[in-house]
Amino acid sequence: MSKRFESNMLLSTHTVVKQLFAVTILIITFSTFVFSEEDNTVNSNQKVTTEFIYRRLIGVAKILEENFATGDKVFAQPKADEEMFEGRDGWNFFSKKAVVVESRQHLLELLGVGEDLSGLSKGQLALLDVYDTSNSPDYKEFMNYAGKTKPFQSSSDNKIIVELADASGVAEQASIDADRCASLNADDSDALRRALWPHANEDGIFIGSPVYEEYTVNPAKSTFLHEVQHTTQEDPGGEYGLNGKHCYDERLGNDKNSESGLKTAYTEGQADWRGLRSKIDDRSLLESRLDEIAFQKKYDEYTVFKAWDKSITADDLLHI
Ligand SMILES: [Zn+2]
Repeated sequence: MSKRFESNMLLSTHTVVKQLFAVTILIITFSTFVFSEEDNTVNSNQKVTTEFIYRRLIGVAKILEENFATGDKVFAQPKADEEMFEGRDGWNFFSKKAVVVESRQHLLELLGVGEDLSGLSKGQLALLDVYDTSNSPDYKEFMNYAGKTKPFQSSSDNKIIVELADASGVAEQASIDADRCASLNADDSDALRRALWPHANEDGIFIGSPVYEEYTVNPAKSTFLHEVQHTTQEDPGGEYGLNGKHCYDERLGNDKNSESGLKTAYTEGQADWRGLRSKIDDRSLLESRLDEIAFQKKYDEYTVFKAWDKSITADDLLHI
């Protein structure tokens, strides 16, 4: 065999190897795509990261002028280090510019405390609890799962952005800054909670502090894990029917789309599973829900069986 022929052989072997390699990559890419269409997860080591943003709300923006024909509202201009923030239900706030949280220490500084947490309100402690949850085994388990789900596989940055909105000083601000901040009365506190209600959407997670000011038992960890589970679903936050809210009638399906209730039952059930199993009390609630099967006879009248009761037939279950 001549030297020249040998080198040609080597060259062509090298080319074949290269082509095989390219084909292999194509097969892997293609099979990953096909598999992800069949299930919500794929085999991948893709990592998801979490970024926390802290937002301190200053006050509820007072409406200075309103055009009732167009619905346009005029507010005072935010100051240099501020921005406007729009909550739900048309609530507008002045807010300090949102800041990326670099560490737990940094978050404590933003909340205005050191190691002594006694100065924090219940709502602020809940925001800290959410941050701490991101270092818990429950969250690590979630992240391992999230990286394999379709929404994260198709995302370009694989990042969950969690916005922690601190409204702890909002109600008092009107007396200090009456020219531009609206005063709140007792009836408004429920509306404030709803305007800053924790939720998930395609941008990430939003956790507002007001709802936690009321609770004696802090459920922020469960809420956070509930909401992050939604980010792995096809349409985070969009499953609640026409106005995008958590309403019980919409959970059951609405007139325009009766099947939407079925989708919501699935997505909410999945999110509750992730959220409730993370705390011992909530976990027992979750287990008790799975413990029995109730057949409704008439309104408010049920026959309850243990889930494993042999007298329940497959036929009975298909009629639930
Ligand atoms: Zn939910």
